[in-house]
Amino acid sequence: MHLSFHGAASCVTGSCHLLDVDGFRILIDCGLFQGEDEIFSSNQKPFGFDPGSISAVILTHAHLDHCGRLPYLVRQGFSGPVYATSPTRYLAEIVLWDAAHLQEEKSQEKKGRPKGVRRPSSRSTPYRIADVIDTMAHFVQPAEYDVPVNLAPGVDATFYNAGHILGSASVQIIVSRPGRKTRILFSGDLGPGHPALLSPASPPEDSDYVVMETTYGDRLHRSFEESKAELLGVLSDTYARNGKVLIPTFALERAQDLLFFFREWKSEGRLPGRQPYFLDSPMAINVTHIYERFPELLGDRLLEQFRKKKDPFLFPELKFMRTVDESRQIRDAGPRAVILAGSGMVSGGRILYHLAQEMDNPHSSLIFVGYQAEGTLGRAILEGRKTVRIQGVMKDVRIGIHSINGFSAHADQADLLKWCGEMKVPDRAFLVHGEHRSLSAYREKLAETGWKNVHVPALHETVELVEKTSSRSSGKTRR
Ligand SMILES: [Zn+2]
Ligand SMILES: [Zn+2]
Repeated sequence: MHLSFHGAASCVTGSCHLLDVDGFRILIDCGLFQGEDEIFSSNQKPFGFDPGSISAVILTHAHLDHCGRLPYLVRQGFSGPVYATSPTRYLAEIVLWDAAHLQEEKSQEKKGRPKGVRRPSSRSTPYRIADVIDTMAHFVQPAEYDVPVNLAPGVDATFYNAGHILGSASVQIIVSRPGRKTRILFSGDLGPGHPALLSPASPPEDSDYVVMETTYGDRLHRSFEESKAELLGVLSDTYARNGKVLIPTFALERAQDLLFFFREWKSEGRLPGRQPYFLDSPMAINVTHIYERFPELLGDRLLEQFRKKKDPFLFPELKFMRTVDESRQIRDAGPRAVILAGSGMVSGGRILYHLAQEMDNPHSSLIFVGYQAEGTLGRAILEGRKTVRIQGVMKDVRIGIHSINGFSAHADQADLLKWCGEMKVPDRAFLVHGEHRSLSAYREKLAETGWKNVHVPALHETVELVEKTSSRSSGKTRR
């Protein structure tokens, strides 16, 4: 049995691990490389294996860095089944469709460009909407949490809640042979100890091998409650100043977090009443409807709301803006609107239009609630740029800037250690999905807790997994 690492190896994006069980080849995630042009250009490169040789794909969740290259895999010859939870299937369809759609828009733009004017093609997503349609036909009967799915004779996979985004899973693959049984656990992305909308992660107790993410292996998040208080404070202050609040929002999970907080504060009378709220993102609206379809997978407080026939994301002042015309009308909604719009890093999307209106208004507020990558407009504003170009026009930055960082959908170092603490020490662990600093810091931390055999694989590295006898050697204790 062999395991190889074809993405998120010594970096964060492009998750893609290949488990080869005597020629039955399971790909765990098939993610897009995201970031600077140099990293993004990896998406056009060969996978490091023959896509036609893959027997099955397992998706841990619907973020692009885990599912974003799946249509390319299909286009390159993959013809097997794709296993995922039901929400992951629906969310992946939205996410992949959006990525392909953006790509087609870019190509149209290119066709209309005068001859000789070329843009670098390194940011091209290597598939089209037709490929996404083909891809969705590969999804089979959705997996349920904690219920084993048979992949092949003697090969089963069980999905466990990972508490990261709706439908996210850690997946344990069990390979059974006469007298031997080997359990390999893939963490997927793990949520924080107290996710806003979901139940916390619940890993299986015992695995022989663990492949785990370490995005924040070297740091602790700011307190979630403090961040909520800060957000509430900025909303109230801006209202008092007669200003608008603009929040660049990621469509998946963060937008739903915010709607849930707003609704809660509204019902507790902690937010002023006469102020419109706009969710100005068709993708975020679609994702919110998927969340509404799976109340049983949401945390207790949300489930309770659904039981009372109340939707935990909706309140009377909230409006969903689907069309561009509707989006433009927000401008006339009065001075005190709260606007959630994509993109989350202000690198495109409808937020640009609203920012262009409000950038030089010192009464309004711009609130960043997520990571702003190097090279994005969001990062430039956050770093204190005095003037910026938005939609072709130079604007003075006079809007109030706030960065509130406690809303991560990712586990921090303490959460990762807690997740590990819930299982027996495995024979060997592999750390992936982290920057160098985070990987080494987390490996050191793990060593202190008794996880001694921990490896950080290189891209395309293959390791042999020794199969285990059925009666696992004793002496390892659950901590
Ligand atoms: Zn993720
Ligand atoms: Zn990820």
